Amino acid sequence: MKPIYLDYAATTPLDPAVLKAMLPYFGISLPATRYPLPANFGNPGSMHSFGQRASAAIFESRQTIAQALNCHYSDIIFTGSATEANNLVLKSFSDSQVITSSIEHDSVLKSAPKARRVSVSKSGLLDLSELEKNLKNNTELVSIIYANNETGTVQDIVSINQIIKKKNPGTLLHIDAVQALQYLNCKPEELGVDMMTLSAHKIYGPKGVGLLYANKKAREKLIPLITGGGQENGLRSGTENTAGIVGFARAVELVEKNRAQETIRMKILRDYLWAEIKKLFPKAQLNGPILATGYPLPATCWARLPNILNFYTPELNAEEAIITLDLADIAISAGPACSARTLDPSHVLLAMGQSPQRAKNSLRISLGKFTTQTDLRKFMTIFDKLKNQVQH
Ligand code: PLP
Repeated sequence: MKPIYLDYAATTPLDPAVLKAMLPYFGISLPATRYPLPANFGNPGSMHSFGQRASAAIFESRQTIAQALNCHYSDIIFTGSATEANNLVLKSFSDSQVITSSIEHDSVLKSAPKARRVSVSKSGLLDLSELEKNLKNNTELVSIIYANNETGTVQDIVSINQIIKKKNPGTLLHIDAVQALQYLNCKPEELGVDMMTLSAHKIYGPKGVGLLYANKKAREKLIPLITGGGQENGLRSGTENTAGIVGFARAVELVEKNRAQETIRMKILRDYLWAEIKKLFPKAQLNGPILATGYPLPATCWARLPNILNFYTPELNAEEAIITLDLADIAISAGPACSARTLDPSHVLLAMGQSPQRAKNSLRISLGKFTTQTDLRKFMTIFDKLKNQVQH
């Protein structure tokens, strides 16, 4: 049986069109392909034309992404990952009053140990009145995850921004939009955000490339994590990952082109899958808000991403379920990829008020561009067998 990958929230495979855009920037001879020996491998900081070609490719990629985000190209700082972009933001404000939420990605939580953490409701939505109460005149930064990587819960960033700016116009708002970019409006000015983190490998781009959007006001507050040659306007030194940046830009172009149609397709597949799971396990319960219905919803107020299902059913032990499915070449997960191997109870589900038993035994199924209905039907036939194998 063809392997079935249902863990797109952990990472996505490279789109062939992205790979094609990247290949000329590695500078290797590819005799078996139609690409000629490229001379685009130069160091973008070099004066000669090898370097200038690489530098021009980075500039073009920056402009492509800026156009998609409707911002100025100088607002974009390329980094080695979204983890690094989140670290850059939070560590720049380590001596300031910072507010975040209890359901952030570890790259935010562990970079801001002293931050005040606003709680969330049972469905994972930020408690807006608690946010308002905690905002002080000296609060310099609020950092919120736009769409949660475990549950897919989407925060109402426009309302969050209104609350912040009404209370203290000087407070900066940063969002982690890593999981959101494929499906939601991520134009910083429309959302009212000052900084935004993105990652290429969640949108069919390469691993090891991220970016931080930061407007001028925010850039003035950033303190570089990595110093050296002064690349990225001094905010992120290190020879640029030209091929990775070119791939990131191509991936962003494809996301922009496919967003509306992929959102509908995902929603249909996800609703089908959830209905089938409920038939098999009637006691199964969703973690997160109820499924949003109707399309189009305003782009900024989806209750949850259309591609992530996170659920608990008392009959299943998460670890056993994942291993059994893996033996049948089916990949799903129990939570965030980076800590999934340990299977600790999810801090996100605990913060949503779930019991440690439920936070440890919930499953996440995340769909993506290459998921088909046939894949889901095959998944259900294996999942059906699992019901008899692992019932307690
Ligand atoms: N933020 C969120 C919401 C994520 O889902 C991830 C990846 O799991 C990250 C940040 C980190 O991204 P990267 O793998 O590029 O460091």
